[in-house]
Amino acid sequence: MVSEPMNNIVCPKCGKSTTKLFHGRCKECFLENFTLAEIAPVMHAKLCPTCGARNVKNKWVDHGSLEEIVIRTVEDALFVHEMAEDIEVYIEPRAQTPYLYKVHIEVDALLLDEMFHQELKTEVRVIRESCDMCSRISGGYFEAILQIRATNRIPSDEEKQECINIAGSVLERLINKGDRLAFISSSLELKEGTDLYVGSSNAARHICKEITSHLGGSFSESASLQGMKDGKDIYRITFSLRLPEFMPQDIIDHKGRIIEIRKFSKNVTGIDVETGARFTATPEEINGATLIAKRKDLPKTMLVAIENEDLMVLDPDTYETVTVRKPVMFSADPGTEIPVVKTEKGLLAIADL
Ligand SMILES: [Zn+2]
Ligand SMILES: [Zn+2]
Repeated sequence: MVSEPMNNIVCPKCGKSTTKLFHGRCKECFLENFTLAEIAPVMHAKLCPTCGARNVKNKWVDHGSLEEIVIRTVEDALFVHEMAEDIEVYIEPRAQTPYLYKVHIEVDALLLDEMFHQELKTEVRVIRESCDMCSRISGGYFEAILQIRATNRIPSDEEKQECINIAGSVLERLINKGDRLAFISSSLELKEGTDLYVGSSNAARHICKEITSHLGGSFSESASLQGMKDGKDIYRITFSLRLPEFMPQDIIDHKGRIIEIRKFSKNVTGIDVETGARFTATPEEINGATLIAKRKDLPKTMLVAIENEDLMVLDPDTYETVTVRKPVMFSADPGTEIPVVKTEKGLLAIADL
């Protein structure tokens, strides 16, 4: 049998009978002297002046403007009664100096079916201190060296710049995920390529994966013992990144076929310059091919006439008229200049891109 709610509880403070006690009092007595919200009169916020990170309980975390950081510091420290519902907090920081904020806080909440409003004041003192990441960067800290190289050649300035751009976007993504070692503390230009000094080997690995998926090539990693710190072995990881031997728009001799490379990643695709046929191979299959020329370095010569499938062009060296086969994709008009390549098979005209 279910009994009716008891009606005969007596409030120990006022002596009235009630149905329910809150913290040992009737509702009226409870609400008389409860505090909806509380905050310390003075707080400190640690902020990195270089990157804007904020220190929370000895950990450097989120970034933001000074005002956002003041607001978050107040939010973290604000105590609102655990029985309150539908809580709305309004925080208004007012800068007194760049180091001192006076903060006005309003809290609205529902408690025992009644709306409560409370206003509070606090002061946030901002302490500027270099964060773990920034002090490591300025100290030249690194865990990994990423060596950007190319197979059987020297990477071009454009390729190196593209690698650095890719690294930048990978690092940004990792930093947004909270990886505070995702940084490059320095880079070194060498004759054979570029070395990047990276804060964590995890970040370096992500960069290598991203670069090889965009530009082709491969990478390997090796660890070397650097010494001990706090009883632990300290390793430095070297990532050796090799960009592919050939780049798009390289014209190569592959077993006697003249191929213009169009894409070089997990697979190599290109155009047979003589026949216009599509070419595909794996990077391993074209090992041993030789570079004839890059499209941008090809000599240009006068296109004298077009006759059916033949082009009459001037030989760029002898200025004699020669007949060459018209490429499959070709749109130039007689009287204009077109790129040609000199091969063991004679002069060849190059198709449109
Ligand atoms: Zn009472
Ligand atoms: Zn910082």
